[in-house]
Amino acid sequence: MAEKANGQEKPTNNQENKENGENGANGANQENSENQVEPMELPPFEIISGDRLSPFFFKFQFKNVEYSSGRNKTFLCYSVEIHSEEVETFQGYLEDEHISMHAEEAFFRDILPECNPEIRYHVTWYMSSSPCSACAAKVAEALKSRKNMRLTIMVARLFMWEEPEIQDGLQLLKASGCKLKIMKPSDFVYTWNTFVEPEGQTFTPWEDVQENYEYYEKILDEILH
Ligand SMILES: [Zn+2]
Repeated sequence: MAEKANGQEKPTNNQENKENGENGANGANQENSENQVEPMELPPFEIISGDRLSPFFFKFQFKNVEYSSGRNKTFLCYSVEIHSEEVETFQGYLEDEHISMHAEEAFFRDILPECNPEIRYHVTWYMSSSPCSACAAKVAEALKSRKNMRLTIMVARLFMWEEPEIQDGLQLLKASGCKLKIMKPSDFVYTWNTFVEPEGQTFTPWEDVQENYEYYEKILDEILH
């Protein structure tokens, strides 16, 4: 984990690279993987999942700074409530490398591949940054076929929000019934308490957490009207 953590620190301001990682090409490879005979051509391991993430990752990846230099992955902490006769809950997190399948898609592949139409599902994601346009479309599509699933997405930062296609994606998510919110200072504390293995560390939100929250909240309001 520490090795990966160091990799995280490399500043990368190159949004082009990020954007290249956002396209659907890799997703298509994934779907066609059955037809591939050369195992070497399969994409490298790119999704990490677990119960609780490390305090280092949380403090770095969820920081709601305006410019997300070096944060070229997405962390998605999820909480799923299954409402049948009793309410059953489970939770965990997913982490992607932004090079192939993204955490949002991995959630529907690995965590909740199927929904029983007789049961209601309340799902909340706490994400380090908001979905890219490809993921927004995939999530909207997933919600279409899961009318009994309610999804709330809480994000620390808005990902490349200046891009019109990103804004379209967020609007599409809202239209699909997904609730989109910016994480408040208290949400960071909740996420720490719920999804982080503290390893002896404590968490105090950074100094400008409220100011940054208000900054992103205003932008999201404008995008969603
Ligand atoms: Zn994505």
